[in-house]
Amino acid sequence: MNPFSLEGRTALVTGANTGIGQAIAISMGRAGAKVICAGRRSCAETVAQIEGAREITLDFADPMAARDVFSGEPIDILVNNAGIIRRSDAVDMREEDWDAVIDVNQKALFFTSQAFARAVFDRGGTGAIVNIASLLAFQGGIRVAAYTASKHAVAGITRVLANEWAARGINVNAIAPGYIETNNTEALRNDPDRSQAILDRIPAGRWGEAKDIGEAAVFLASPAAGYIHGTVLSVDGGWLAR
Ligand code: NAP
Repeated sequence: MNPFSLEGRTALVTGANTGIGQAIAISMGRAGAKVICAGRRSCAETVAQIEGAREITLDFADPMAARDVFSGEPIDILVNNAGIIRRSDAVDMREEDWDAVIDVNQKALFFTSQAFARAVFDRGGTGAIVNIASLLAFQGGIRVAAYTASKHAVAGITRVLANEWAARGINVNAIAPGYIETNNTEALRNDPDRSQAILDRIPAGRWGEAKDIGEAAVFLASPAAGYIHGTVLSVDGGWLAR
């Protein structure tokens, strides 16, 4: 058996309608997983590219929205990808923006993981969680205070869950994507000075593509990563090595 294959596993990817989530869903489908694409809007574009995929609605406007999602068919892999960013100077940050970012990026990620783990434990199964963190799990960033707080929290949650669940059959890990061409970074790419400054410090000499993250997520969800617990894997073209 190919240890990098996801054959026979079912994977649920949040925020699978676009960007990194879409790429992860496609990569996991290609690796043999049965894929459930979760989104607050239609994931039809993603589902159409994956044989046997289906979609469900999951809107983390309610951070507890996934409470019942795992009680049906067995789901072996959870990818907590859904996330938002709100940019403003720290002195201007509004409470409603802070709460919105923390609710989706941090609270929903934790409670979706909890619901997933309860179902895995109830059936005596095994599983893998891949959380999508950020370079801002390690660095401060600029004008993104709530986002940075939430992504530092994603790294911490990844570690605490790994500590609690590694011996119970669930691998919990995270990916820290570098600068990837998606909606999330549109504002940066539209600013010629920021865009060039970012590019200048990426050793790989290019922005990341969503599929760069997709392949790393397949690895962390696969049997090949069976002894990997609580790691935050940078997929950043070398940014953090600089
Ligand atoms: P994106 O294109 O904006 O995708 C974000 C995804 O999250 C979309 O599917 C979005 O749905 C979904 N989402 C947002 N709010 C939601 C909610 N309330 N309920 C359910 N889904 C919700 O950006 P992306 O770059 O692919 O981001 C994916 C993840 O990667 C995020 O966690 C982000 O923080 C992280 N990340 C991205 C980069 C980068 O450079 N792009 C770097 C580091 C980390 P809608 O389409 O409906 O908004």
